[in-house]
Amino acid sequence: MITFKDVNKWFGSLHVLKGISTDVYPGEVVVIIGPSGSGKSTMLRCINRLEAIQRGNLIVDGFNISDKKINITEVRAEIGMVFQHFHLYPHMTVIENITLAPRKVRKTKKKIAQQEAFELLEKVGISDKAYSYPSQLSGGQKQRVAIARGLAMYPKIMLFDEPTSALDPEMIKEVLDVMKKLAYEGMTMVVVTHEMGFAREVADRVIFMDQGAIVEIGTPEHFFNNPKEERTQSFLQQIL
Ligand code: ADP
Ligand code: MG
Repeated sequence: MITFKDVNKWFGSLHVLKGISTDVYPGEVVVIIGPSGSGKSTMLRCINRLEAIQRGNLIVDGFNISDKKINITEVRAEIGMVFQHFHLYPHMTVIENITLAPRKVRKTKKKIAQQEAFELLEKVGISDKAYSYPSQLSGGQKQRVAIARGLAMYPKIMLFDEPTSALDPEMIKEVLDVMKKLAYEGMTMVVVTHEMGFAREVADRVIFMDQGAIVEIGTPEHFFNNPKEERTQSFLQQIL
């Protein structure tokens, strides 16, 4: 579903992705961990070309995303993204937030889009908030709206960038539970998170990044019981 081949990215003279190569298979859940500034967000953002890469290849569902000729809107329609700080439109209700992209991009009729949105709200457990504004919701509810909005285009891939890092502890579980459900339904997911319980339970593979490079990739079992690299070991010691 996603192939990184020697992907390199610079911000000016700062080399932030240094030859990333890895694959994400359909239905797989890949969790990316690593210290702050190691390039995790940048790696995710390259997948839907929120950031451009300067060298290497990045293939997403058969599209070479560096190719200037591809219709990036079409590719992005296949990729839902959830950010740490929700990024909901504050002046729109929950239902308007969720139906915006299907109506604008997929030209879905209002009534159909709303029907679909209600199904998604049910899935994330907040059907009663359809007509609320983001400011009237808790952090956990906002993040579940953001997930529903990400799902509204029926994407093939969902990207999550620290989706629970801005939440109070009691709200983390409700968001992780929705993500688990998605994973078990077979969604292809790339998740940057510090939630090691989630990684252990849900990830097919874990990637440990440091200083713009992949230091180690393995199953959760490998990672948490028997990491090979010293940098992985010391990182895990710090956070576990
Ligand atoms: P992480 O998500 O692992 O914390 P990031 O991908 O956000 O790391 O950042 C990787 C590196 O790139 C950091 O050194 C960061 O300061 C830098 N960086 C991120 N975004 C930008 C940007 N828009 N302009 C310049 N430097 C950036
Ligand atoms: Mg980040």
